Amino acid sequence: MTDTEISVFHFDLWNEPWIGLEKEGGGIERLGIGQALLRAHEFGGIYELSPLIVVGIHRLLTAILQDMYSPKADKDLKLLWAVRQIPEEDVLEFARNYGDRFDLFSPEYPFYQSADVSPVPVKGENIKSIANLLPDIPSGTEHTHYRHGVQAEQVFCPVCAAGGIVALPAFSTSGGAGIKPSINGVPPLYVIPTGGNLLESLLLSLVIPNYQPSARAVDGDLAWWKREPLIPRSSEVVSVGYLHSLTFQPRRVRLYPEVLDGSCSRCGQPIKFGIRKMIFDMGESRPKDAPAWFDPFAAYKVRDKKPPIPIRPVEGKAAWREYSNLFLKKPEDETPRKEKTIRPSVLDQISDLREGDTGAVSLRCVGLRTDMKAKVFEWVDTGFEVPGSLLRDEVAGFQIDKGIQFASSCASTIASVFRKTFGGSGKDAARYTQLKTAMMDDYWRGLALPFRKLVTTISTTQNYDEPFAEWVDQVTRVAERCFNNAAAAIGDEGKHLRKRYNGERLCRIYLLSAKKKELNNE
Ligand SMILES: [Zn+2]
Repeated sequence: MTDTEISVFHFDLWNEPWIGLEKEGGGIERLGIGQALLRAHEFGGIYELSPLIVVGIHRLLTAILQDMYSPKADKDLKLLWAVRQIPEEDVLEFARNYGDRFDLFSPEYPFYQSADVSPVPVKGENIKSIANLLPDIPSGTEHTHYRHGVQAEQVFCPVCAAGGIVALPAFSTSGGAGIKPSINGVPPLYVIPTGGNLLESLLLSLVIPNYQPSARAVDGDLAWWKREPLIPRSSEVVSVGYLHSLTFQPRRVRLYPEVLDGSCSRCGQPIKFGIRKMIFDMGESRPKDAPAWFDPFAAYKVRDKKPPIPIRPVEGKAAWREYSNLFLKKPEDETPRKEKTIRPSVLDQISDLREGDTGAVSLRCVGLRTDMKAKVFEWVDTGFEVPGSLLRDEVAGFQIDKGIQFASSCASTIASVFRKTFGGSGKDAARYTQLKTAMMDDYWRGLALPFRKLVTTISTTQNYDEPFAEWVDQVTRVAERCFNNAAAAIGDEGKHLRKRYNGERLCRIYLLSAKKKELNNE
């Protein structure tokens, strides 16, 4: 293929309609970046089948606005929050300056790709299937439950390729030898503020310097569109600014478009050209000894001297169990514990700047569950409404945290009594384990509604003791009920009856004593 033929392919993310947007009153409209920004106030939000792409697009649009306006102080952000529509001249000016940096197949400035990689596949290069770009498509080394297909058949339309490529900065995970995750490590659960429309969501996601990662470089912070379009293989970047972090390039990528008459194997759209192959190598990472990076949209567990751990999705663990860790402010002067959690700094910013506003804040939590290595199991996508008063209320944060801890300790109690009573070896062991898992699922499911009530009552009444006592009572009752149901499922034969009786009695005694202890500590 000659150079003139290469330039036949264009897919300019600034103008081509590729971002799915929820129309008011239903339906989806696709727009390019420029129009999506201009008309952001008209749409409810971003719509894509994969929430990873939603977050990828959200971070890209946020980075553009962050670069466009670079709010420095509270007052700048408050002015921006009041904007009802992005002024056309601002978008046009940005497009004049950087509009040529968003074409997926530009020979000089391929978007989120390295321009020094040969623009056509070269023999001997490490060419990969396009399926590696997104974790919902099977490929050689990645594991998936979503789709079954043969890798050789995978071909992406430019829209799907664009979605995959914008999800890389937030969601690239470990991928075998030498393939490191992106700037936030194995991906955290991202907490994304959601406003009444897309514009509000984006503006709520702008972060002023006080709330940006403390490890960021302040000077020479360049977003992708201001950097050289180069991603050297396995390059360590010592100095990373905030805009650089939002447009971080953990992979050295180059997409290879080709004329193909058929349909996209991901979305099924008919295509005239598509992408089957790409270069997909290790790209940027921060040095191992670099200071910890706290993304403003992630929560962290911090332990003495050890590196912080972002809160990530855990198998079988409903996201509400992380409610206080993800959303609430913990008192500064609480008894120093070995481990503490820090909520996403974007929530500190919202809570500090909203002052008296007690309206609820909607948050969307999106994550990717992996085995911490190359295996990807599932994505997680849940929404929460957090009452505005709770965002600032440290006492409530403390109380709700205590409530969740109490539920966890009762969970351990019933699990351990069940194991001691019915567990052990023998041919029934597998069945007991199954029953125990079902009991635990039953228990946590049973607490979801009472938990919501606890949160609502505390936030509306600012009364802590009564709702807390009610919660403690509910938890022990649900625990006892779930234990008894599971024990009953074991059977009525004589050999089981005695065990059942003992187990139920033990469970009741332990739970009652836990309840008394918790309430007397008040
Ligand atoms: Zn497609």
